[in-house]
Amino acid sequence: MEQYDAIIIGAGPAGLTAAIYLQRAGWRTVVLEAYVCGGQMANTPEIENYPGYSRISGVELSTSLYNQAVEQGARIEFDGVSAVRLYEAEKTVETQSGRTFRARAVIVANGAKRRKLGIPGEEELAGRGVSYCATCDGGFYKGKHTLVVGGGNTAVEDALYLSNLCERVHIIHRRDEFRAGRVLTDALQKRENITIHYDTIPVEIRQAEGKPMVGEIEVENVKTGGRTGIPVQGVFVAVGFEPDNQLFAGQLTLDPSGYIVAGEDTRTNLDGVFAAGDTRTKTLRQIVTAAGDGAIAAFEAGGYLAAQA
Ligand code: NAP
Repeated sequence: MEQYDAIIIGAGPAGLTAAIYLQRAGWRTVVLEAYVCGGQMANTPEIENYPGYSRISGVELSTSLYNQAVEQGARIEFDGVSAVRLYEAEKTVETQSGRTFRARAVIVANGAKRRKLGIPGEEELAGRGVSYCATCDGGFYKGKHTLVVGGGNTAVEDALYLSNLCERVHIIHRRDEFRAGRVLTDALQKRENITIHYDTIPVEIRQAEGKPMVGEIEVENVKTGGRTGIPVQGVFVAVGFEPDNQLFAGQLTLDPSGYIVAGEDTRTNLDGVFAAGDTRTKTLRQIVTAAGDGAIAAFEAGGYLAAQA
């Protein structure tokens, strides 16, 4: 059993910011992370809207935040959480490797996970041409033809990133207007090797003939009902995120979409448990708002710990 003042679940911008603030306030803090530090931001090619940086890569910002938390004395363990008991004053968090952590305060900052398309071929060809991360996998598609699904900032950023590597990039969006911001969509329109397909949804991802890799995606125009097969070697899915809060169901109150119900003060329905960043109910999910949540959650958790002492 490992004892801390505070346990933070998730090492994205919310979790790492909370760790920096808690450590600086003198509270012994551990951060538990299942994957990589930085969360979604680690998969973002270029960030242009985080204050203080005109342009920084997601990996660079993630690494620098990670280093800052470690410099402040936070322990960061790459171990996924498998079970939690949050009702008691002394909360327990168990990990996939079998460790048990205890603390009086817990900050849930586990972000959100990539939404899937749920169409034939997606699951079967995942990792064999179907990808959820352009920055991680784009390098495999140099000189090839790829297709991005989605109309938000992530999809458009992914298409722009891939267009620097691929011969041709298709982007399909289910409506006739992108959700992504103007700066990005303007850049998209200017790229000669990007083909935009509006009002188009994916129907099926098919294997290439004779090899277990993506060879084609069938798409449908929602206005005409017409279907077309587009030959591509890579399909990048960027249709948003959804919460990943099954672990907390029954203990923390979740909204109908599965986000943890918490206001700007990040307090949940349980004393000593706070929710920060994309995992909680909020209107704007950005790196800067996640970092802001992290600072507030640490302030609230620190106040809670001090009141218990
Ligand atoms: P998002 O904004 O939720 O966009 C998801 C896109 O996928 C939407 O265009 C949506 O279409 C489409 N979609 C959803 N389900 C679909 C389905 N089953 N089939 C086909 N299309 C589907 O997600 P995101 O782009 O990943 O961004 C997530 C958050 O991070 C947002 O708040 C975003 O602003 C932020 N972000 C910001 C930046 C930046 O500021 N530079 C970069 C990346 C992400 P509809 O438009 O029709 O709903």
